[in-house]
Amino acid sequence: MTVVGLDDTDSRETGMCTTYAAAQLADAVREEGGSVERVLLVRLNPAVEHKTRGNAALAVHTDLDAERATTLVRETLSLAQTDDPKTNPGAVVADCAPEAVPPQVADFTVDAIREIQDRVTATTLADFAGFARVERGNGRGLVGALAAVGAWAALDDWTYEHIAYREQSRWGTERDVDPESVRAAADEHYPVVWDTVDRDSGYPVCVPRTPCPILYGIRGDDADACRTVADAVESEPVAERATFVTNQGTDVHLQDAALGEVTDDSAFRVTGTVADPPETRRGGHVFVTLADGDDRLPCAAFEPTKRFRDRVRALRAGDRVTACGEVSDGTLKFEKFAVRELVRTERVTPTCPDCGGSMSSAGRNQGYRCRDCDTSADGKVERPVERTIEPGWYEVPPVARRHIAKPLVRGGFDGPTHPAR
Ligand code: ZN
Repeated sequence: MTVVGLDDTDSRETGMCTTYAAAQLADAVREEGGSVERVLLVRLNPAVEHKTRGNAALAVHTDLDAERATTLVRETLSLAQTDDPKTNPGAVVADCAPEAVPPQVADFTVDAIREIQDRVTATTLADFAGFARVERGNGRGLVGALAAVGAWAALDDWTYEHIAYREQSRWGTERDVDPESVRAAADEHYPVVWDTVDRDSGYPVCVPRTPCPILYGIRGDDADACRTVADAVESEPVAERATFVTNQGTDVHLQDAALGEVTDDSAFRVTGTVADPPETRRGGHVFVTLADGDDRLPCAAFEPTKRFRDRVRALRAGDRVTACGEVSDGTLKFEKFAVRELVRTERVTPTCPDCGGSMSSAGRNQGYRCRDCDTSADGKVERPVERTIEPGWYEVPPVARRHIAKPLVRGGFDGPTHPAR
């Protein structure tokens, strides 16, 4: 077996994208008489600064020998847009079965998803493992390419995306996809197929807005169901289609951490107590601070997360919450959160049993009294609080979902879920 990893063939200017390059490579392998076992679409750390859009790396698993595969990948990278200085394609060819890569390579994959990896580490490791390298530009694409090679050994939760590509003459022009046909097919196959349409806005999230060759991508837990939904979409002609096995929708980027342990440019799952009432700031962004002992972490639900912000606004100081999301500039950007415990009572000034009016302080440590009736009370009293949120998991809507974030509807969460569809 041979594993070919490739990355960074995306170009903002000409619209090439790495999934397309991988689909082309898979076609070339078949033309050479090889069979393609699967093509992986691996989402890396979404926080990486100089990322290509979506930060995707690809791997083709094939029985074609490594030498012939290397020749084909050279040709594929030549198709990639090396005239764009921001595009630095790289490929790694491993002469082994996908599950048999050295453990150091699998560890590298996990690090590339959760932290930041550099080109020198990737080069050194690829050479140590005896993998062939192909690079263009500054070779930054080697990082994703090696991460894609290690992915099958490193990860165990996989989903699917069926991608339809446009005819080349239409790249960069407005896409012609009938939203009603997308909605109907998505409805019929939900929740096996997810994040196809954002229900509240009606927006077809499966149709990208960038000038890339993708017409639409249908995501889900079953490859056949994704293909069936794609078949039902009415659109401009489809030039090519491919099914990818992917770590999208798996939350594999999240690291469990204590509140005080989080660092910028990674994504975490942390638990704390709401320190202050949530605050809506200019632009409609909602902020809330979690605390754990002396550690505090501001968390934000930005405007594009739409109705999810109401769930954050429904929190109260004292609630126990688990928050998930990427941390940058010391602030966690909510992807989802779980309400663990809700504050159910509050301590308030007592009311007078005779007249029902609010009592007033009788002086420091003197309790409360009603001046009109001369009644008294020892101190504040507990009163039930009406809550508009229940325990369990809440998530941003599909329109604001990161590729790698796991939709609640996929299940496996440690509490009740309130999926946004
Ligand atoms: Zn009174």
